Amino acid sequence: MNTSVDSRPATGVQVPTHWYNVIADLAGYVSQDRRPAQQPGRHGLKPQLPLSIYRQSVSDEPYIEIPAEIRAQYENWRPTPLVRARRLEKALGTPARIYYKYEAASPSGSHKLNSAIAQAYYYKKAGVRELVTGTGAGQWGTALAMACTVYDLECTVYMVRCSYEQKPHRRVMMELNGARVIPSPSVTTEAGKSILADDPDCAGSLSVASSEAHEYANEGDGVRYSAGSGDNHVLLHQTVIGQEALAQMRELGEYPDTVVAALGAGSNFAGLTMPFYRDAVATGRSTRLVAVEPKSCPKLTRGVYTWDHHDALGNTPMSKMYTLGHTFIPSAIHAGGLRYHGAAPVISWMYHKGLVDAVAYGQSEVFEAGVTFARAEQVIPAPESAHAIRHVIDRAVRARETGTPETILFNLSGHGLMDLGSYEKYLTGMLEDDSAAEAEVEQALARLSQTAIR
Ligand SMILES: *Cc1c(COP(=O)(O)O)cnc(C)c1O
Repeated sequence: MNTSVDSRPATGVQVPTHWYNVIADLAGYVSQDRRPAQQPGRHGLKPQLPLSIYRQSVSDEPYIEIPAEIRAQYENWRPTPLVRARRLEKALGTPARIYYKYEAASPSGSHKLNSAIAQAYYYKKAGVRELVTGTGAGQWGTALAMACTVYDLECTVYMVRCSYEQKPHRRVMMELNGARVIPSPSVTTEAGKSILADDPDCAGSLSVASSEAHEYANEGDGVRYSAGSGDNHVLLHQTVIGQEALAQMRELGEYPDTVVAALGAGSNFAGLTMPFYRDAVATGRSTRLVAVEPKSCPKLTRGVYTWDHHDALGNTPMSKMYTLGHTFIPSAIHAGGLRYHGAAPVISWMYHKGLVDAVAYGQSEVFEAGVTFARAEQVIPAPESAHAIRHVIDRAVRARETGTPETILFNLSGHGLMDLGSYEKYLTGMLEDDSAAEAEVEQALARLSQTAIR
């Protein structure tokens, strides 16, 4: 599937046999979903999860066995490499030791395939014919399209319009895998039509694409909605990343003080950090777990902890989460994978309890970090991953200035080879600044302060 697999250095670390379910280790956490308010024009959705996935999403067992068939698929590209960024350390003149987990080695180019493969497997077993989803930057859509090819499912993807236009090659990757890709908002659904009626030039957002995909799933026969992030089972599937990283670091006699990952809805962050959370609880270590988000979509650092919907029209059940409001449409920044209004309920709860940290950065400082990393390491990170790199570089510089060594691990969640248009904008000084985006966040927070249910 992927040529980098053959050149991977041999290690004793294997693909994990189980996924890790952090809920088992969160005393006091109660999973809560509420049905949407009965309002005119709103209708309940038919259940989307097969029993197999539903059981995972409500389980309180710490470890859930990975079926042999899924594990065999994972072995096509896992374990992914753990790499020490020595050249970056040197370029920064830092005593910090910097490691990254290279999820870009997956055939789809990001961590998202870890859950796409698992979901396609379970949906196929449940007799589903077609999966539909919403995608931002296109990483989730690409992963799901590939997984549907593996399990012989049809696939329809609502792709956020600004990404559809910024990244035509992402669409081609999905179409090459047999998926149908529709720019969102579209006229194919009532949700899309109502949003276009308000704003014909709407750039789209993940919550809008998700409204459209939910409607499509609700109306079709044998069609189900597949979630790319945020839901408990997606967080669960991604924990192969952190379990491998923990074993790989141990093999090197290393252990991170700080573990960093970008946060869209939270599966990338949870995937890398939750196994370290478990280890910290078991050993009494204090490991800093840091989620990095864009200043244009800062749900953890600026949002409100309240009940909210997952989609723009409010047809999905409500969950308690840090949110900017489900009607908030983030600016068309280049890290499309982070443009989602809310954080996963589990991660939100942990943030509320002070168990994980969060920071936010602006676009230019993120791209600057991405370029610094690429020039040092010769790996071009996805703009989403560059958010994590921004924080890693800041920590490493701090380590230099204070003379305190620190071991840092981050997730290189995806490569940036489909994002060169955005890098070109940065390099030619054409990147939009964040001031308009931040003003829109302020407005969303003002709206939310009036409507939030607490
Ligand atoms: C989607 C994506 C993210 C964010 O992942 P979440 O699971 O939504 O938090 C980060 N990096 C890349 C490369 C992505 O595609």
